[in-house]
Amino acid sequence: MFSINHNFAKLQGSYLFSEIARRVAAYKTQNPDKDIIPMGIGDVTRPLAHEVISSLIKSAEEMGKAETFRGYGPEQGYDFLRNKIAEADYKARGISVAPDEVFVSDGSKCDTGNIQEILGADCIVAVTDPVYPVYVDTNVMAGRAGDFDEKEKRYTNLVYLQTTAENGFEPPLPSGRVDVVYLCSPNNPTGTALTRAQLKKWVDWANKNGSLILFDGAYERFITQKEIPHSIYEIEGAKACAIEFRSFSKTAGFTGTRCAYTVVPKDLMGADPQGGKVSLNALWLRRHTTKFNGVSYFVQRAAESVYSPEGSRQVSRAIGYYLNNAKIILDGLENAGIRAWGGVNSPYVWLKTPGDMTSWEFFGLLLDRAGVVGTPGSGFGRAGEGYFRLTAFGTAENTRKAMLRVLDLKL
Ligand code: PLP
Repeated sequence: MFSINHNFAKLQGSYLFSEIARRVAAYKTQNPDKDIIPMGIGDVTRPLAHEVISSLIKSAEEMGKAETFRGYGPEQGYDFLRNKIAEADYKARGISVAPDEVFVSDGSKCDTGNIQEILGADCIVAVTDPVYPVYVDTNVMAGRAGDFDEKEKRYTNLVYLQTTAENGFEPPLPSGRVDVVYLCSPNNPTGTALTRAQLKKWVDWANKNGSLILFDGAYERFITQKEIPHSIYEIEGAKACAIEFRSFSKTAGFTGTRCAYTVVPKDLMGADPQGGKVSLNALWLRRHTTKFNGVSYFVQRAAESVYSPEGSRQVSRAIGYYLNNAKIILDGLENAGIRAWGGVNSPYVWLKTPGDMTSWEFFGLLLDRAGVVGTPGSGFGRAGEGYFRLTAFGTAENTRKAMLRVLDLKL
């Protein structure tokens, strides 16, 4: 019989969200009248902006007429969108990114996993701990992570960079060899963001060691503080060592609409087996055009509309709404005497569980006594134990209600 990719057998079950759902369902059965406030979800709830909807309708009408109908588009994305991205997300910030360095796709989840196809199987990969689980699982599937060590609760071949309150959630530079590192800023799950000075250390390290940074900026639009860079390319030298991922999901409410992009600079080179230099932009172009047939015309027009003055205003309003919820959470936690981080440049608030409570103990307490559902930090990695994530994606009313209930707990 044919064999399967045995790396899949090494994956740890997606225990986190299914376990949360199971516990919430059991609680609801026992307490049918209790009002439960979900604050664990990482999905947006505000509807798409009017400009986006108008653009979707207009482009749908174009598709219904022979003279404006479109079939296959360019795999890397239409020029109208790539030019807009290069102009508005980069040139306007003083960064030079050419449209042919931009690859439009249907999501950063796919991009952050798929990018590994152009990297060597022997690359040593580092991730932060806690981490967005996709980086880990996709490396497991590709066979780069090694086996799961049950005792250590870690994969043997991955390098884990612990980010906790003790180091201010700044990932420490690796002490040994690392070829590829995933950095996410503003971060999921901690909600903290790397400053320009902190990111510069990483760019300098990568250029010195010939390493690659995979920079995930999915939450870029939530940045409010000046010292936080919106793009890794704001740091000198980053175009020689970094790939950047951006998504319209959280920034413009496209989680169900699907559009993202990846920037692969033409300066970025990797080594072939003989030590010769190979352009990653050329490799990704080859991979993308071979395995992907482009994001739909409507969706790319919708993404373009986010950059119009009115579209941008409407999208900013939704971001402001979530950031206001984050502030309500931060203030509520402070009043309740709970230490918390994030929430200023991010829709996520990361809190330290009171006393010696584990992440799951706090989950149980919050659900049982306050009817609030969050996400246990230990689900994002070993170093997330003792932490807990609340998200600002709910309604303002529910967020306020939830924080009053937390205060009533008198922890
Ligand atoms: N990157 C991070 C850090 C995320 O938290 C998420 C979604 O939760 C994604 C990427 C996925 O983005 P997309 O919806 O574009 O696939």
